[in-house]
Amino acid sequence: MLILRTIPELRAWRSSLSPSLSLGFVPTMGALHAGHLKLVEECRRACDAVVVSIFVNPLQFGPNEDLARYPRPFEKDASLCEAAGVDAIFAPEADAFYAKDHATYVDVEGLDRHLCGAARPGHFRGVCTVVLKLFHLVRPRRAYFGRKDIQQFLILRKMAADLALDIDLIGVDTVRETARGAEGLALSSRNAYLSEEQRGAATALYRGLARARDAHRAGERDAGILKSLIRAEIGASPLARVDYVEIVAESDLRPVEEVPAVMAVAVFYGTTRLIDNVAV
Ligand code: AMP
Repeated sequence: MLILRTIPELRAWRSSLSPSLSLGFVPTMGALHAGHLKLVEECRRACDAVVVSIFVNPLQFGPNEDLARYPRPFEKDASLCEAAGVDAIFAPEADAFYAKDHATYVDVEGLDRHLCGAARPGHFRGVCTVVLKLFHLVRPRRAYFGRKDIQQFLILRKMAADLALDIDLIGVDTVRETARGAEGLALSSRNAYLSEEQRGAATALYRGLARARDAHRAGERDAGILKSLIRAEIGASPLARVDYVEIVAESDLRPVEEVPAVMAVAVFYGTTRLIDNVAV
């Protein structure tokens, strides 16, 4: 497995590949867990070669967010990638990726107004900018993203459609905790910030979503009632501070009164903000 640290190294490797090879790409910020590895596994299955990027992208962090303390266990990440059959890791330092006077950004208008976009101004602009730049460098046939970050996936898919990128964006279902006491919690690198108590309380995100999904299966179609079921489950713990509980259309992420839709939540436990969603 190659470890590429600079743009020229990545370019040289990419140019050495046969044009007929189908290259798969999994962009990440590292601190890899079984969710990331599921993306790698799907990518491995469908593509001839796999590139994983590990880059904590400063452009997508707000001024009061966790850029400095975001976990960066590079050696462990590299061994996980090697064991998963990754061909190359691209892991640049921030100053090897962005020039000091970087001034070009990608905005996907509209979709970033809702859900996390409302609470994290500039976040999706940072995500789109880094992903488009990575796409240009890696030139993959397919790229893999988690549906856990549903808004990110839908925004990137819109970017790819609007800019006529010749890349298939594949959304992979959320991988969840199976460990006792944490069952159902969506895997996230940020779970590492949680205390044992917060981790237990955070299982309410999925419990609430699953409860609303069950109610929907039983015939409930009123978005207000489904949201109140989710809120009741999450709000049962005093450790939770709800940022949003929304039911939105997958097409434009606007709140809808009736399903089918995506039920999405963002909740703080201490300073850690967790997200999750379930489609109905
Ligand atoms: P991150 O390193 O958090 O930027 O995530 C990199 C990719 O992994 C993104 O496409 C995420 O949506 C995806 N991902 C993160 N957590 C999970 C999970 N629990 N299940 C599936 N995919 C995930």
